[in-house]
Amino acid sequence: MSKQRINAALEEATDTRAVNIEAGALASVPEVFRENFGGGTIVVVADGNTFEVAGQEVQRELQDAGYTMMEPYVFPAEPQLYAEYSNIEKLRDALQEHDAIPVVVGSGTLNDIVKRSSHECERPYMCVGTAASMDGYTAFGASIEKDGLKQTLSCPAPRAVVADLEVLQNAPGNMTASGYADLLGKVTSGADWLVADALEVEKIDPTGWSLVQDHLREWTGSPAELRAGDQQSTEHLVEGLIMSGLGMQSYESSRTASGAEHQFSHLWEMEGLGKDADPPLSHGFKVGVGSVAIAALYELLLERDLADLNIEALQNSWPTREEMEQSVRVQHTSPELEEGAVEQTLAKYISADELAERLRLLQEVWPGLREKVGEQLMPAGELKEMLEAAGCPTTPVEIGLGWEDFEKSYRRAQTIRKRYTVLDLALETGLLDDCVEELFAPEGFWGRATEEAGDRTL
Ligand SMILES: [Zn+2]
Repeated sequence: MSKQRINAALEEATDTRAVNIEAGALASVPEVFRENFGGGTIVVVADGNTFEVAGQEVQRELQDAGYTMMEPYVFPAEPQLYAEYSNIEKLRDALQEHDAIPVVVGSGTLNDIVKRSSHECERPYMCVGTAASMDGYTAFGASIEKDGLKQTLSCPAPRAVVADLEVLQNAPGNMTASGYADLLGKVTSGADWLVADALEVEKIDPTGWSLVQDHLREWTGSPAELRAGDQQSTEHLVEGLIMSGLGMQSYESSRTASGAEHQFSHLWEMEGLGKDADPPLSHGFKVGVGSVAIAALYELLLERDLADLNIEALQNSWPTREEMEQSVRVQHTSPELEEGAVEQTLAKYISADELAERLRLLQEVWPGLREKVGEQLMPAGELKEMLEAAGCPTTPVEIGLGWEDFEKSYRRAQTIRKRYTVLDLALETGLLDDCVEELFAPEGFWGRATEEAGDRTL
């Protein structure tokens, strides 16, 4: 674990002041609390599982250190806690009965619930992570279902984070695999930022970029060892996830850690994919399949010479604002998703003249950009193998998605967020449909995978 790297990143962060990750770190909870909150009353928040795994010990450590402890707030172990707003209301109402500082012991969902509830009570909180399952520990915002729609509710990141490697190592394998997939997704999200930067849509911020990208290969380099429970690989993973969250804090946007692969994930999330599975389909597993999908699309685009586009023809066939809105509406089946997608798509809409201007810039920068993006990426096949080695799903069928819906995801995902990604590049160069067709043709990346999947079921 590079404490220096994390400490340097903390200097850039807006909310989080301390991170302690090491074997035996649970014992450091009282000291980390004292340094970052001083005295006061504490309430441990957990669920039945995480209380068992680490919550009891945290409670005991804090008690022994002389803190006044409230009765722990423990959500039931079964059914698995879901990130829905009613849970936030329940916890918020309980927190309002006192003024104790929450110390959450758990991973993604619990952290998100406590993050938002604490914010609604205008209280800072501390997090003790129990699985290296996503990069949200040190990120702001909570991903919560409210009014039937999954959304990111705003709230600051925890003031302090502690994670005990021994606890993380023993977390369920699918949780660690999910964290790995979330982290490996920064390969494609980085490529998207390079594209947005070159086209002058969103400049790269050197600090935000470095925090996430500089050591990404090192953090993700040993998936098989990670799956086998190796401590150093777990350490690399959690360092990457924590740094990724701090990168978002530093840049004050998730651009540093989320591109088109996350748009696939968010689309499927909003469509309710895997919500009723047991356990529910994780964020990371959706991101993993999205990353392979995006890497495969990049491969086809990088084969082409985008300096050679027929700009006039593309300009003439570019949809008007109204046509663009119509094309978004026909693609979505859920009314809430449709409205959100229209709003996001129109927020990034450019006129035919602006398109021509952007494409002329693309022609100019393409040779350099092609090289940079090529260096940033890895082949889709390699990405797929790494995910498999870590124990992650890599095909739509494995996450319960039909091939047809998967194919449509390329176009649908482009519409749901205004963030500029490779999906926009492909759309604006008139190549999105062609590339998707090529990917799903019998000899294409997904065409071959469909065949293999078919063979397996025979
Ligand atoms: Zn993510």
